[in-house]
Amino acid sequence: MSLSNYTIKQIEEMLHKGEISATELVDLSYKQIEAVDGEVEAFLSLNEENAREQAKKLDEAKSYEGKLSGIPGAIKDNITTKGIATTCASKMLENFDPLYDATLVEKTNEQEAIMIGKVNLDEFAMGSSTETSAFKKTKNPWNTEYVPGGSSGGSAASVAAGEVMFSIGTDTGGSIRQPAAFCGVVGMKPTYGLVSRFGVVAMAPSLDQAGPITRTVEDNARVLEVIAGHDRRDMTSVNRDVPAYSENLSQEIKGLKIAVPKEFLSEGVDPEVKESVENALQMYELLGATWETVSLPHLAYSDATYYAIAYSEGASSLARYDGVSFGHRASEFTDVIDMYKRSRSEGFGDEIKRRLLIGTTFLSGEHNEAIFRKAQKVRTLIARDFQAAFEKFDIIIGPTTATPPFKLGETIEDPLKLQMSDLLAVPANLAGLPALSVPCGFTEDGLPLGLQIIGNHFAEQTIYNAAYAYEQATNHHKKRPVIGGAEV
Ligand code: GLN
Repeated sequence: MSLSNYTIKQIEEMLHKGEISATELVDLSYKQIEAVDGEVEAFLSLNEENAREQAKKLDEAKSYEGKLSGIPGAIKDNITTKGIATTCASKMLENFDPLYDATLVEKTNEQEAIMIGKVNLDEFAMGSSTETSAFKKTKNPWNTEYVPGGSSGGSAASVAAGEVMFSIGTDTGGSIRQPAAFCGVVGMKPTYGLVSRFGVVAMAPSLDQAGPITRTVEDNARVLEVIAGHDRRDMTSVNRDVPAYSENLSQEIKGLKIAVPKEFLSEGVDPEVKESVENALQMYELLGATWETVSLPHLAYSDATYYAIAYSEGASSLARYDGVSFGHRASEFTDVIDMYKRSRSEGFGDEIKRRLLIGTTFLSGEHNEAIFRKAQKVRTLIARDFQAAFEKFDIIIGPTTATPPFKLGETIEDPLKLQMSDLLAVPANLAGLPALSVPCGFTEDGLPLGLQIIGNHFAEQTIYNAAYAYEQATNHHKKRPVIGGAEV
């Protein structure tokens, strides 16, 4: 039996009928990790003793009342877990055991999910390939010569490899959707403010959102309805009711109006990626939706805008790692300033240092007005382009990424190429919009591709329905990677 063959809802029914136990689910998860994680390297730490204990308790009570009862899940290692190392894949936090659970972890715990372990990411979520992790390089389960994407590479790979049934990632500029696309799974970045950021280690706080990565749309909707909701401990958390997305799923999308920004299918987009999106649009026509090409002219500036904001906010967010309040402290130093310098030099990797230098410059002196503040204005223009589109259309569709997955080592030396891979993902973060990636086919080499669906603020249900209708009409989500000589 493989975890990949079931949805959360099916497992729920099996638990209630006594056909499986939480202990067996946990066993399946750790067995799969043992079988494939030597190759995939998705996990930074395992929570095996606690997980087994928790499963035992659920099996003794036998009520399985939670929405995620007994379901094995993984948490990106930049989300705090009480007493369990939360490293952000950085030497800076190698020995950091938080005193509290992130709100979203509290919520998955309340619904009886089982936290199997913490998964790898780019250091402090800065990157697109999971190669900037200080600890290991996660591989793409579809072909281990390729990256799983990033920064939530461990989250996407752990689901694709059948090690867990869901994982939580974070997305500041594509970090849930891009790895979901590269690993052939479903990833949702919710509306800004829908999921509490309390306990989500800040990268660029005005852009950061956490969200689920799962194998199917239905599972994704179920996990989001668990982790979403108002939290007084996050001042940007929005106070409104969370619908039961998974219970309201519908394949009926007749009359759905789709906009396709021409900027999303421009020259830089790989032909195989383009073709997969064109095929998806044909499928949407068959399902009764209509689509039209539109122009969102300010999208051309979204990449520059994103980096101005993300680097500036990143420099500010990471200022707290000074060897005093948090993080690694150098063992030898002459005075307190020297201690800060040495601690930060030793604790941070190269990509972080590069961004801190640039971000600090963006915030300093006249650059502040010329770069940081200007970026805020352009951000508003991008958001307005979207609002204009949503006056006429229900959703916006395009590719999740401009290219198929790339090989390990292929782009890490070339920051510009890495940035290109985020080009299509960052506009949703800048505008605070929900956006999802759903599998939409494979390259000739058998590597997964993702279709991006963007909705208006809080239109998660519309996005899920559009994704569900497409998923159920296609077979992409039924294909499994072969790893360690066996199909996942
Ligand atoms: N890849 C983007 C970056 O490097 C996005 C990262 C993220 O969403 N956390 O900034």
